[in-house]
Amino acid sequence: MQSNHHFAAHGAREHYFDAQATEQVRPEAMAALTLALHEFGNAGATNHAQGRRTKQALEDARDRIGRLVNAPPEAVFFTSGATEANNIVLQSLATRGHGRLVASAIEHKSVIEPLAHAADQGAQVVFCPVGNSGLVDPDAMRTCATGASILSVMHANNEIGTIQPIAEIRDAAPDALLHVDAAQSFCKVPIDFERLGLDFLTLSAHKIGGPQGIGTLIVRPSRVVDLRPLFHGGVQEAGLRPGTTPVGLVAAMTAAAEAAMAERVQQAARLGVLRDRMVTAFSRLPGFFVNGSLEQRLAGNLNCGFEGIDALLLMRRVPHLLFSAGSACTTGSANNHVLDALGLPYERQRATFRLSLGWATCETDVNVAIASIEGAVNHFASYRRTR
Ligand code: PMP
Repeated sequence: MQSNHHFAAHGAREHYFDAQATEQVRPEAMAALTLALHEFGNAGATNHAQGRRTKQALEDARDRIGRLVNAPPEAVFFTSGATEANNIVLQSLATRGHGRLVASAIEHKSVIEPLAHAADQGAQVVFCPVGNSGLVDPDAMRTCATGASILSVMHANNEIGTIQPIAEIRDAAPDALLHVDAAQSFCKVPIDFERLGLDFLTLSAHKIGGPQGIGTLIVRPSRVVDLRPLFHGGVQEAGLRPGTTPVGLVAAMTAAAEAAMAERVQQAARLGVLRDRMVTAFSRLPGFFVNGSLEQRLAGNLNCGFEGIDALLLMRRVPHLLFSAGSACTTGSANNHVLDALGLPYERQRATFRLSLGWATCETDVNVAIASIEGAVNHFASYRRTR
């Protein structure tokens, strides 16, 4: 296990707990990237041998990524990341007069905002509520989806880590087109494109130890005609994503994904134990709360807080722990749409923070996090007592 300790400029050891923002790049991905950059080539320049080798490497990667989610290679399109993949799907479908679009209320902004924009343009958009568990209720989804033609539901949430019941949601709306954003669950929770009857599936590399700037959109081959490219000017990725396909990034994503998938079960068990140790330790401290279901959740996610302790103030006392405040995505005083959807009052939202663990998180990181957060919470508690 590679150490996750970094020396900051001031000499203190830092401990990284922001794997859901981006994961430490895996050595397999670095090696694949370096090799591909050495062997550079343009997969479109196939009238010479180097271009043909590059094209072969690209098609090989397409096949390997497809296998990880049980999709055929012709369903696999490389994009710059999950944001682009989500936008290709939702911008295309929202403007094709497809009827009602339904998404969960806790989707990533790269799903919410294209839909909100479509609603401004006159499309019928419904955001299906989640309970305080952070889970989409298939019955609520059935109601929301009546008459809907498109559903967009994330597999795992980026903030609270909850894992949605995709199979039940598929059953609740068998006739709708179903898009699943699996940026946070890819190689962590298995997903089977064919068996679930998905139409569109979004993946990202940098949440699994691959590089930033590369992702994948999986499209049921019969649905490719429903999509429009965001850019014009090339035939790469069957014209869906014009621009030279970055074969080095593709190779690195593929290497990271295969490495992550190979150790998926073992990592989930290991991270679950580490995460639960934090839950147990924090539960002994005053005012501890966890947001959303602890059971249906990514093993590496803990979204929690201590009543009455502002997460940003807490973070300032433990600068060697690198994690994120619950409302980091919205900044300032604006509420956070995920925590809002859980019905969390503003005071709890301010207290909320997320610790996310990844393949490089080790036991020492967790020991330090527990001791440091305990110290900080006790500091605030005694400060309050002496006032
Ligand atoms: N969807 C989800 C659920 C995510 O967590 C993220 C990354 N925060 C994205 C989409 C966007 O991914 P990318 O950075 O690859 O564009």
